[in-house]
Amino acid sequence: MRRQRQAKIVATLGPASSTPEMIEKLFLAGVDVFRINMSHSDHANLKARYEDIRAIEAKYARPIAIMVDLQGPKLRIGTFTSDSVTIKAGDSFRLDMDETPGDTSRVYLPHPEIFAAVKPGEHLLLNDGRVRLEVTAADGKVIDTRVVFGGILSARKGVNLPDTIIPLTPLTEKDLADLDYALTLDIDWVALSFVQQPSDIEEARAIIGGKAGIMVKVEKPSALNFLDDIVTATDAIMVARGDLGVELPLEAVPGWQKRMVRACRRAGKPVVVATQMLESMVNEPVPTRAEVSDVATALFEGADAIMLSAESAAGKWPEKAVQTMDKIAQSIERDPLYRGIISNARTDPNPTSADAIANAARTVAETLNVAAIVCYTGSGSTGLRVARERPFLPIIALTPSISTGRRLAVCWGLHCVHTEDAKDLDDMVFRAVSIAYNEKFADAGDRIVITAGVPLRTPGKTNMLRVARVAAPE
Ligand code: PGA
Ligand code: MN
Repeated sequence: MRRQRQAKIVATLGPASSTPEMIEKLFLAGVDVFRINMSHSDHANLKARYEDIRAIEAKYARPIAIMVDLQGPKLRIGTFTSDSVTIKAGDSFRLDMDETPGDTSRVYLPHPEIFAAVKPGEHLLLNDGRVRLEVTAADGKVIDTRVVFGGILSARKGVNLPDTIIPLTPLTEKDLADLDYALTLDIDWVALSFVQQPSDIEEARAIIGGKAGIMVKVEKPSALNFLDDIVTATDAIMVARGDLGVELPLEAVPGWQKRMVRACRRAGKPVVVATQMLESMVNEPVPTRAEVSDVATALFEGADAIMLSAESAAGKWPEKAVQTMDKIAQSIERDPLYRGIISNARTDPNPTSADAIANAARTVAETLNVAAIVCYTGSGSTGLRVARERPFLPIIALTPSISTGRRLAVCWGLHCVHTEDAKDLDDMVFRAVSIAYNEKFADAGDRIVITAGVPLRTPGKTNMLRVARVAAPE
């Protein structure tokens, strides 16, 4: 089976999509990557969804990526003596280390790290940014603040500190336990929440090794200061607009989305645009015009993938939401403006053999108007470099490693096929041609462009370009 678009779709699973039947429907409607959010999943649920997805993958013989999203160091306040309290702009409000329930003048903050890190002038945002506090004094034991925007607070509401780098472990005890468990399964991507700096990625990398790709969720302003270094250190980026939009002024988010997509395209690393893309479809069967436009913007920017969160996890219309994204992507990619916009943002190849071949593969393929580019890729690197060129024709990534095929499912344009390594050059051409034909990308008489590395089976050695014709079947 093949998709009729090059951008990919990530869908979050949840109560609205937790049966094998619904997951199969979502896959058929267009999902390339399933995301399981560990903020809302236990290990038994992860295992069950994992098995559902792998069963569908086997049924349709198409690699599907599974992304496990770790909750990360989400900060919360303590409790109150009443169900909720209302605090008013201009009042003072104290956060302290006293566990007793709070009131309109103070509340417990169960995170000692914050007391040491926060400085006067910095801000604390409570309850998804609805309440804003400005720090007036901090002595390491209490934080005194002035209320900038007042509002209602209740027990255990989230706390965001957009201005402060907090010496938090990027992986909490829960994250470590979830990660340990997830790595006993063949999962493909681990998403890291609330990454603040490049060193946060190292700890995860030490545990994960090569078992899964690392997707950094950019949702802290501090991460934006290190964007290039984070892109270098990670395998992929998620533009996590939900929390980013709490910590940054909302109007700053679109510009950062563009910067992140550009940085990732330049680096040739997948970038996923996430959160509220079709939010109204949580309740309604049709999206708003503004939402369609938002999805289109991400596609015109050249994002690798667009993501559904609550729409597919907890909404009334999970399948319709996927169909809607699929339809938007197909339509945008056929718009005559699309090619020009994507091409204008293309950056030069690096001076490596792999990039020179990827660039040449695109120009040869476009000049000859071939049916597809077929690239042999073991680690996935060649697949990513060819996709980085954003050629406007199908790319088939052939890989002997099923985990490479799955991981590349998030990457723009790559149709991944799991196959054995070619035995010799003749077999390499034969295999590429047969797979392009069998997967319905090429007809008899069509030509394809093949990239590979010679000698065969030497990783990281893509150095060959070949044009081949699909023979008429005998
Ligand atoms: P979340 O991350 O859904 O886990 O919060 C995405 C975001 O913040 O946008
Ligand atoms: Mn988030």
